[in-house]
Amino acid sequence: MPTIFSKIIAKELPSEMVYQDDLVTAFKDINPLAPVHILIVPNKEIATVDDVEVDDEPILGRMFTVAKKVARDLGIAESGYRLIVNCKQDGGQEVYHLHMHLVGGRRLGRMLAKKED
Ligand code: AMP
Repeated sequence: MPTIFSKIIAKELPSEMVYQDDLVTAFKDINPLAPVHILIVPNKEIATVDDVEVDDEPILGRMFTVAKKVARDLGIAESGYRLIVNCKQDGGQEVYHLHMHLVGGRRLGRMLAKKED
Protein backbone atom coordinates (compact mmCIF):
# COMPACT_ATOMS: atom_id res chain seq x y z
CA MET A 1 0.00 0.00 0.00
CA PRO A 2 1.48 3.39 -0.96
CA THR A 3 2.63 5.70 1.81
CA ILE A 4 3.90 9.26 1.82
CA PHE A 5 7.35 7.86 0.97
CA SER A 6 6.14 6.68 -2.47
CA LYS A 7 5.21 10.26 -3.31
CA ILE A 8 8.60 11.50 -2.11
CA ILE A 9 10.36 8.87 -4.25
CA ALA A 10 8.26 9.93 -7.26
CA LYS A 11 9.01 13.59 -6.48
CA GLU A 12 5.29 14.29 -6.18
CA LEU A 13 5.95 15.63 -2.68
CA PRO A 14 8.89 17.84 -1.72
CA SER A 15 11.77 16.47 0.30
CA GLU A 16 15.43 17.22 0.86
CA MET A 17 16.68 14.35 -1.27
CA VAL A 18 20.36 13.54 -0.93
CA TYR A 19 20.58 10.49 -3.20
CA GLN A 20 18.49 8.49 -5.67
CA ASP A 21 19.20 5.59 -8.02
CA ASP A 22 17.28 2.76 -9.63
CA LEU A 23 16.79 0.89 -6.34
CA VAL A 24 16.80 3.34 -3.44
CA THR A 25 16.16 6.94 -2.45
CA ALA A 26 17.64 8.86 0.49
CA PHE A 27 16.23 12.06 1.94
CA LYS A 28 16.40 14.08 5.14
CA ASP A 29 14.04 13.10 7.94
CA ILE A 30 11.47 15.83 8.45
CA ASN A 31 11.85 15.54 12.24
CA PRO A 32 15.59 14.98 12.75
CA LEU A 33 16.73 13.40 16.01
CA ALA A 34 20.41 14.14 15.39
CA PRO A 35 22.45 16.65 13.34
CA VAL A 36 22.41 14.08 10.52
CA HIS A 37 19.19 12.09 10.12
CA ILE A 38 18.61 10.56 6.71
CA LEU A 39 16.04 7.99 5.61
CA ILE A 40 17.16 5.42 3.05
CA VAL A 41 14.17 3.76 1.42
CA PRO A 42 13.70 1.18 -1.34
CA ASN A 43 11.97 2.59 -4.41
CA LYS A 44 9.88 -0.59 -4.38
CA GLU A 45 7.00 -0.61 -1.93
CA ILE A 46 8.02 -3.04 0.80
CA ALA A 47 5.99 -2.43 3.94
CA THR A 48 8.23 -3.84 6.68
CA VAL A 49 11.25 -6.06 7.31
CA ASP A 50 8.69 -8.84 7.76
CA ASP A 51 7.74 -8.41 4.08
CA VAL A 52 11.18 -8.66 2.50
CA GLU A 53 11.81 -11.55 0.11
CA VAL A 54 14.98 -13.26 -1.07
CA ASP A 55 14.56 -11.45 -4.41
CA ASP A 56 14.84 -8.14 -2.52
CA GLU A 57 18.40 -8.87 -1.39
CA PRO A 58 19.97 -6.55 -4.04
CA ILE A 59 17.80 -3.71 -2.72
CA LEU A 60 18.73 -4.45 0.87
CA GLY A 61 22.41 -4.53 0.01
CA ARG A 62 22.11 -1.25 -1.87
CA MET A 63 20.56 0.36 1.22
CA PHE A 64 23.82 -0.34 3.08
CA THR A 65 26.17 0.83 0.34
CA VAL A 66 24.12 4.00 -0.01
CA ALA A 67 24.21 4.48 3.77
CA LYS A 68 28.00 4.32 3.59
CA LYS A 69 28.14 6.79 0.69
CA VAL A 70 25.74 9.28 2.26
CA ALA A 71 27.55 9.08 5.60
CA ARG A 72 30.81 9.87 3.81
CA ASP A 73 29.21 12.66 1.78
CA LEU A 74 27.78 14.24 4.93
CA GLY A 75 31.05 14.00 6.85
CA ILE A 76 30.16 11.51 9.58
CA ALA A 77 31.97 8.42 8.29
CA GLU A 78 34.95 8.94 10.59
CA SER A 79 33.04 9.89 13.73
CA GLY A 80 30.51 7.10 13.19
CA TYR A 81 26.78 6.73 13.05
CA ARG A 82 23.90 4.35 13.66
CA LEU A 83 21.60 2.59 11.21
CA ILE A 84 18.13 1.78 12.54
CA VAL A 85 15.31 -0.19 10.96
CA ASN A 86 12.10 -0.28 12.96
CA CYS A 87 9.63 -3.10 12.33
CA LYS A 88 5.92 -2.86 13.14
CA GLN A 89 4.33 -1.73 16.38
CA ASP A 90 6.79 -2.89 19.01
CA GLY A 91 9.67 -1.74 16.83
CA GLY A 92 8.19 1.75 16.73
CA GLN A 93 7.56 1.80 12.96
CA GLU A 94 5.28 4.66 11.95
CA VAL A 95 5.55 4.65 8.16
CA TYR A 96 4.85 1.27 6.58
CA HIS A 97 7.34 1.61 3.75
CA LEU A 98 10.62 -0.05 4.70
CA HIS A 99 13.28 2.50 5.60
CA MET A 100 16.68 2.69 7.25
CA HIS A 101 17.45 5.64 9.51
CA LEU A 102 21.01 6.95 9.20
CA VAL A 103 21.70 9.06 12.29
CA GLY A 104 24.89 10.71 13.45
CA GLY A 105 26.72 13.93 14.06
CA ARG A 106 26.56 13.55 17.84
CA ARG A 107 27.16 10.86 20.46
CA LEU A 108 24.05 8.70 20.32
CA GLY A 109 24.27 7.00 23.69
CA ARG A 110 22.78 3.64 24.49
CA MET A 111 21.27 1.58 21.71
CA LEU A 112 18.08 0.98 23.68
CA ALA A 113 16.42 2.65 26.62
CA LYS A 114 16.63 0.44 29.71
CA LYS A 115 12.86 0.20 29.99
CA GLU A 116 9.74 1.30 28.16
CA ASP A 117 9.42 5.08 27.71
P1 AMP B 1 9.62 5.12 11.72
O1 AMP B 1 9.13 5.51 13.07
O2 AMP B 1 10.81 4.22 11.75
O3 AMP B 1 8.52 4.59 10.83
O4 AMP B 1 10.16 6.46 11.07
C1 AMP B 1 9.40 7.25 10.22
C2 AMP B 1 10.17 8.52 10.02
O5 AMP B 1 9.65 9.18 8.88
C3 AMP B 1 10.11 9.50 11.19
O6 AMP B 1 11.42 9.74 11.69
C4 AMP B 1 9.49 10.75 10.57
O7 AMP B 1 10.03 11.93 11.09
C5 AMP B 1 9.80 10.57 9.09
N1 AMP B 1 8.90 11.25 8.17
C6 AMP B 1 7.56 11.21 8.14
N2 AMP B 1 7.08 11.94 7.13
C7 AMP B 1 8.16 12.45 6.49
C8 AMP B 1 8.34 13.32 5.36
N3 AMP B 1 7.28 13.80 4.66
N4 AMP B 1 9.59 13.63 4.99
C9 AMP B 1 10.65 13.16 5.68
N5 AMP B 1 10.55 12.35 6.74
C10 AMP B 1 9.33 12.01 7.15
